[in-house]
Amino acid sequence: MKHPYLLAALALSLCWAPAARADETTAARRFQQAQQDEPSLIAFLQRFPKGADLHNHLNGALYSEHLVDWAIAHGMSFDPKAGKFTRDPRPGTVPAAKLLEDDALLAEYRRHASAGTGGHDQFFNAFGYISSVAREMPLADRVALVADEARGQNVHYLELMATIAGSTLRKLAKGAGPVKDLDAALKALKPALAEYAKAGAAEIEQTDRAVATHLGYSGRASDAGSPVAVRYIVQVDRTDDDPAFFATAAAGLALMQAAPGQVVAINIVSPEDHPIARTHFAAQMKMLDFLYQRFGHPNLALHAGELTPACSPLGPLQSHIRQSVVQGHALRIGHGVAVAWDPDAAGLLAELKRRHVAVEICLTSNDAILGVSGARHPVSLYRRAGVPYTIATDDEGVSRSNLTLEYAKLVRTIHPAYTELKDVARNGLEYAFLAGESLYVDHDPRRLRPGFAGVRNAAWQPSPAATRRIQASPKLLQEVRLERDFVAFER
Ligand SMILES: [Zn+2]
Repeated sequence: MKHPYLLAALALSLCWAPAARADETTAARRFQQAQQDEPSLIAFLQRFPKGADLHNHLNGALYSEHLVDWAIAHGMSFDPKAGKFTRDPRPGTVPAAKLLEDDALLAEYRRHASAGTGGHDQFFNAFGYISSVAREMPLADRVALVADEARGQNVHYLELMATIAGSTLRKLAKGAGPVKDLDAALKALKPALAEYAKAGAAEIEQTDRAVATHLGYSGRASDAGSPVAVRYIVQVDRTDDDPAFFATAAAGLALMQAAPGQVVAINIVSPEDHPIARTHFAAQMKMLDFLYQRFGHPNLALHAGELTPACSPLGPLQSHIRQSVVQGHALRIGHGVAVAWDPDAAGLLAELKRRHVAVEICLTSNDAILGVSGARHPVSLYRRAGVPYTIATDDEGVSRSNLTLEYAKLVRTIHPAYTELKDVARNGLEYAFLAGESLYVDHDPRRLRPGFAGVRNAAWQPSPAATRRIQASPKLLQEVRLERDFVAFER
């Protein structure tokens, strides 16, 4: 059997148990009642099957509690002056365990490692405090923490943005030569790319096994049938100079080829309003376009339009989303807050819909960084235009949020019907970088693929032919599992 985890995964969804008919109407009524107060809504949404979190920065997902616990358990020191942890117990530092006795020190670290009410600058500054611990933590330790948070909220699929094999990557970026001639630049990088892909694939494989063990699962955590299926998106820093940007992006794409089904895309990260990100945007799109052709049309998900006039002049507001799709070949857009500033916003929305480019909506992050929320958020615009969108956390540890709270914010912002809420969750898998055929014809959850018409009935069992197709398609497996989770939830 190609996927020995399949039966276990479907059994998790209780799909073999004969039971009462799934009752969507009753669930819709419960959803209506739950909106009367916040705790009831959270109780409802925490159990609600949310499918996937597609926009999640691994280090930003770590809560300060996780970081403090790890620093203490691993004998790190704390530098009260810098407000950061260190491996080096130099004069002026105290053992990390001191934070257990000193409330002021603990409060100071927790304040630095989260967004609080400090807006854009505090949000991005938090990463320096987080990474004082996170850079010491093995990848598997960090991923296990984030997977636990997901599992506790009925989320079964994650695409985590992360830096893989960081020291090899930094060496490669540092040694990168000029990029005037992209062909020559790529050729010069070839040996370093091979070395990086080997180191990255080894780290991913080790992590994949370790996280699966942590989840009590015998395969790899990246398997579609893992309790929480975890895949990776390589981060490329848009505030790097052009040679480093080009080298890192190429490295990410080389790693995708070396670790297929584990590393599924690249994305560009760091503040989009940074002077380098702004002035080198055109050059970066040109490099991505070049690499897209050279690496056989890989998956790209790009942060774009995470901007308002408070942090950006008009040019980037008007052009970044469109350029990221047209020239950057983004299959998904992160944030897309600036969409209304495009000179032809209606045309852009129609183009996103036509291309089936999904927008990863991060409501808490947009509020904290950009001060955009409620009626000022364009999620309603995307919704009215029929652009697919998915709900994501961005940096749940920094934001002190999680996917349950993001769904609660969506409910308060657009007041969706219960069936629409389910479609948002379905989008998380439909637009995930999962290989294979989809359960839905033409991305439409109203049109189930032939052979799966009964998947929403409580007594459904897959035919042998359907089982074979599920085995052959990670996307189909995840989507069938979500539909079975809905059946169980509505029972
Ligand atoms: Zn992001």
